[in-house]
Amino acid sequence: MRKKIIIANWKMNLKLSEVIDFSNKLSTKLSNKEVDVVICPPFPYLGTLSQALKSTRISIGAQNMFYKEEGAYTGEVSPKMLLDFLVRYVILGHSERRQVFKETNEDVNLKIKLALKFNLIPVLCVGENLETREKGGQEDYVRNQLLNSTKDLGQNDLEKLIIAYEPIWAIGTGRICSGEDANKIIKMIRKTISEKIRILYGGSIKSDNFNEHINYPDIDGGLVGGASLKPEEFLRIIDLANNAHAQNLSHPV
Ligand code: PEP
Repeated sequence: MRKKIIIANWKMNLKLSEVIDFSNKLSTKLSNKEVDVVICPPFPYLGTLSQALKSTRISIGAQNMFYKEEGAYTGEVSPKMLLDFLVRYVILGHSERRQVFKETNEDVNLKIKLALKFNLIPVLCVGENLETREKGGQEDYVRNQLLNSTKDLGQNDLEKLIIAYEPIWAIGTGRICSGEDANKIIKMIRKTISEKIRILYGGSIKSDNFNEHINYPDIDGGLVGGASLKPEEFLRIIDLANNAHAQNLSHPV
């Protein structure tokens, strides 16, 4: 059975004092949870957070990395550097990277390959914009993104990925994709890549709207932006995943 996983993407938010407060609040409350929990802070907080959470069940992720190991690439961060901070996961191809920083599927493909070389777990983000959704082209669009971002990867490597389906129109907008619609795309992703991998939904998840999604059999967790910035709210979302996990254990599909 695939274990549920909740990943926090803090984006470019929080101050150092808030990061310390967050880790204090979370670390004491997570020991009895079954699901995997990952926090992806901004780069400058990786050291502090990984130290603070070292003896907890919470893993650390990065929000991005470059596709070169080292060299004259001002402002970039290499996967080798992430390993120094006990980073295990790395978000790649987030729609904000694709839109604001013009990252292409080819860039994302190079990043995935290098992340795998360093044993980092890529969290590959895919998702259509509103115009594509309104035309009904979401399945083709997402399939194309997937195939190009994972080009030349063998089945063994494909099965190391986590994929997050994040429709762009639902990110940070308060507008959530229904569980049924998200599950449909996620099923297609599973068929395209592998039955074995974990596939998440992301886009305006909150504790009062995620219960439906997390209980769909193909939705293995959530990538959470805004709602991951407050420890109490993030803990409520983890609780929903934990309940869904317990439910699966008692009624395996
Ligand atoms: C995200 O950044 O991946 C995200 C899903 O953000 P939000 O939860 O704020 O929509």
